Amino acid sequence: MSTADSTADSTAEVEALLRAERAAALATVRDLDRVIAGVVEATEGANTDDEHDPEGATIAFERAQASAVRDRQLARVREVDEALARVATSTFGTCARCGGPIAPGRLLARPTATRCITCAALGR
Ligand SMILES: [Zn+2]
Repeated sequence: MSTADSTADSTAEVEALLRAERAAALATVRDLDRVIAGVVEATEGANTDDEHDPEGATIAFERAQASAVRDRQLARVREVDEALARVATSTFGTCARCGGPIAPGRLLARPTATRCITCAALGR
């Protein structure tokens, strides 16, 4: 690495953001795993006591909510992993559509962006 320009600096900064975001998303997934596991236990208990227990519907709803959030966090981890892979192969910061540079400010605001602001605005 001989280039010590601002692009290299901002890439390192974005990589740090990505790693922090990945850790936070995984921590949330682990928390939700515990919530979902606890709720599953409670649902089984409710079923043996009374399958028409109104608590059952609430628990099922809360479990569905927790699962939905967990899925979104896992999708986020995958996006972050893809961005980190681009950092590793030096394709990070290059627009996937036009091949032009993605502005460092955009990458700091949205590290998982795959297109430059122009292509993103065009919706392509
Ligand atoms: Zn572009």
